[in-house]
Amino acid sequence: MESRSRVVLATRNPAKARELAAMLVGTGVEVCSLLEIGVTEQVEEDGASFEENALKKARGVANSTGLVALADDSGLEVDALDGLPGVMSNRFAGEGASDEEKIAKVLELLRAVPRAGRAARFRSAIAIALPSGEACVVDGSCEGVVAEEPRGEGGFGYDPIFLVPSLDRTFAELAPEEKMRLSHRGAAMQKAIPILLRLLGSRGVAQSG
Ligand code: IMP
Repeated sequence: MESRSRVVLATRNPAKARELAAMLVGTGVEVCSLLEIGVTEQVEEDGASFEENALKKARGVANSTGLVALADDSGLEVDALDGLPGVMSNRFAGEGASDEEKIAKVLELLRAVPRAGRAARFRSAIAIALPSGEACVVDGSCEGVVAEEPRGEGGFGYDPIFLVPSLDRTFAELAPEEKMRLSHRGAAMQKAIPILLRLLGSRGVAQSG
């Protein structure tokens, strides 16, 4: 029997899935991964914005699984790089490049830029899609600066170089709960959760269970 509150997390990034799942703890929403439900096809992330890509991922998975899907598209925008890596964050150092390689590329491009010019933000767009085609997207952001060198072991992606000036710590130096409280993804999920609960509630009435 399909649970009325089941939501598939439309991401292949295990660290991102862990963060999204942690933010849904206590909401009554039951999450499952693409792996668990056997979805293998990849969605091409060719949109011009985080919002467009998040909607594309959520719609694709809701359509192919018949489940409610939640997707995050996110990235780092560096002012001195005119907003790059932006929607290219995942493939900024080439397809399949490691986090270390992506970080090295950003640091190299900013080598001559002093602290005052290293402003950056993480942005996240969270999309929720229903198999009926209904969908919505919300976003969140978090301001910071790009550190001169990587610091910390936690998180993923660009976390070791994303410095929160008020704490003088990078995202990779924060406990998961602290990152959740401050992050772009946390901010977007704050908006997404009530919408998700409302959509699941109205679907529960329509579904036989
Ligand atoms: P996508 O949303 O799957 O296209 O990938 C976004 C990419 O942006 C990730 O692979 C990371 O490199 C980066 N990114 C997104 N969110 C975070 C975060 O919370 N911390 C560090 N890097 C992130």
